[in-house]
Amino acid sequence: MAFLFRCPECRTRRRDHGLFTQHLRETGHRLCRCGGYHFEHRPGSPFCVANPMSPALLASRYGASDEEVADIALELSLAPTPSSTKRRPVAACPF
Ligand SMILES: [Zn+2]
Ligand SMILES: [Zn+2]
Repeated sequence: MAFLFRCPECRTRRRDHGLFTQHLRETGHRLCRCGGYHFEHRPGSPFCVANPMSPALLASRYGASDEEVADIALELSLAPTPSSTKRRPVAACPF
């Protein structure tokens, strides 16, 4: 399998999963596996749940108009409810 393992934190690549995990161990770089992407990604990426604006970006990706996206972004910036059950703390990420 010619798959390159790329570290989303520093964007370096490893050809081998062993070397890749070794790199993660040595550098402390982490991947996030929330539902924002179907692959492991850098925490805080645009569609990552660690990014507070991800719902707006997701809506945009699913075809919402600019106006709708702006509405959602506004809503998000007006309602920073840390107790919201819809969103999980970043610490919930398994990686
Ligand atoms: Zn790295
Ligand atoms: Zn994520």
